[in-house]
Amino acid sequence: RPDFDPRDPLGIDDELTTEQLAVRESVRALCRDRVGPYVGDWFERGELPAARELARELGKLGVLGMHLDGYGCAGMSAVDYGVACEELEACDSGLRSLVSVQGSLAMFAIWRWGSEEQKQYWLPSMAAGETIGCFGLTEPDHGSDPASMRTSARRDGTDWVLNGRKMWITNGTIADVAVVWATTEEGIRGFVVPTGTPGFSAPEIHHKLSLRASVTSELVLDEVRLPQDAVLPEVVGLRGPLSCLNEARYGIVWGANGAAHSCLRAALDYSTTREQFGKPLAGHQLTQSKLADMAVRVHNGRLLALHLGRRKDEGKLLPQQVSFGKLDNVRGALEVARTARTVLGANGISLEYPVMRHMTNLESVLTYEGTSEMHALTIGAAMTGVQAFRD
Ligand code: FAD
Repeated sequence: RPDFDPRDPLGIDDELTTEQLAVRESVRALCRDRVGPYVGDWFERGELPAARELARELGKLGVLGMHLDGYGCAGMSAVDYGVACEELEACDSGLRSLVSVQGSLAMFAIWRWGSEEQKQYWLPSMAAGETIGCFGLTEPDHGSDPASMRTSARRDGTDWVLNGRKMWITNGTIADVAVVWATTEEGIRGFVVPTGTPGFSAPEIHHKLSLRASVTSELVLDEVRLPQDAVLPEVVGLRGPLSCLNEARYGIVWGANGAAHSCLRAALDYSTTREQFGKPLAGHQLTQSKLADMAVRVHNGRLLALHLGRRKDEGKLLPQQVSFGKLDNVRGALEVARTARTVLGANGISLEYPVMRHMTNLESVLTYEGTSEMHALTIGAAMTGVQAFRD
């Protein structure tokens, strides 16, 4: 029988393929060498320096649009992609957000709903990290209820003209291309907007207390004129953006748990080395109880992520199941982060340790890609047949 492994108490690693373990190692190495030593400092300064260089390295690793087929994408499985998200977010939620927005939101929108020409033009350079994308759905006055969006696109001859504002857009200021959702006479449609187009600007949002090592922006669209072929031809209506969100939420199910695992590891290391009252913190019963509770939360979360990933690979994953995973794993990750913070005492609030950085990052993760309340309502509607979003 194998020994009990505190890092993998349920032996979940045995369920992963050699390829998945290799993905984990390569993403872990990039995080360890390129991001880990610096991310506390970036977080403190509220910057993501050398984002382009980082995007290229992530592209070389094959994690941008990793589970998409063709057009330079790695064509790997949903579980492979999940394992990568888990490692990226164990480093920082901002890093995982960069990858999620690029691959699951901007690239997926083009891959799923774009024309052949759009796919060939944009996807290979996005997969390589040469071109950075963002995804504009949320507006200053419309977040959970995107159907009420005001950003509009009108036809002018063969052109489209876009007007409006988007808010809280990850990667916005550094993006080369924005997938923007707007209302038209036909319903909500997606547009592929090169960010150099006149009338487009993306000022960065400052003063964030969460996801500080991530670029978050407003998008301003002032009479942005686009050719006819800028529209995503294959979808009309809210199911377009919702299909993309479902992809990104799936990555969060794994990612949030990665952040939680990082907090648990920090608490475990700390509690076995620091002594109070003549013995290691880990020797006090209340600390052991916290460690056990955190381990149960983290490894149940891994099991849930793996289960959902396998369903996704089998083509059986329902959006309500993704809501289930996002709701539970993000909420659980926050609980773990808060508990780990207490184990570290005063050191828990320092950027010398990853715990409070994860904790504040996870507050954004709880809200974006559908708030915890929206996912609870989605599950509630599926269970009861009664939707409670609006009267
Ligand atoms: P609101 O919708 O105003 O909700 C406020 C509160 O009211 C929430 O608790 C919500 O759950 C609750 N609420 C709302 N309606 C109901 C209801 N019917 N019943 C019960 N409770 C309700 N968006 C993008 O499009 N692209 C991005 O790249 C992106 N990146 C982001 C990055 C960060 C760091 C953050 C913080 C946000 C990002 N977002 C992005 C926006 C995010 O998706 C929205 O913030 C989110 O959808 C919630 O919208 P809101 O903030 O307007 O909150």
